[in-house]
Amino acid sequence: MDKKIITELKKKLEQEKVLLKEDLLKFADKDKKLPDDYDTRFPNLGERSSAPDENAEEVETYENLLAIEYALESRLKEVNEALEKINNNNYGHCDICKKNIETDRLKANPAAKLCFSCAKKEE
Ligand SMILES: [Zn+2]
Repeated sequence: MDKKIITELKKKLEQEKVLLKEDLLKFADKDKKLPDDYDTRFPNLGERSSAPDENAEEVETYENLLAIEYALESRLKEVNEALEKINNNNYGHCDICKKNIETDRLKANPAAKLCFSCAKKEE
């Protein structure tokens, strides 16, 4: 693949990585033992009363945040894997058929792991 395109995609991946980490840190703490693992802080919506309603609200908020944490972390993992492949000169190959992933596809999602036809079959 064109080196220029790889450099461009690498920049995109690095920018996304920064944004993902910023997003995660808004509601989660970084786990010091595991790299790129975050733990959602339990939301404290105030201690005005210990009404059960309020607790339910906190639990619901927490569950929503956990879902977001999971989505952001999975994306961060994909981004990191793609960056690692770039560093190992192994970037842009489909995980299944090993052919080159279409450049347009990588431009749309630089962390894509599968080529167009394999992704279609996986659906
Ligand atoms: Zn493929």
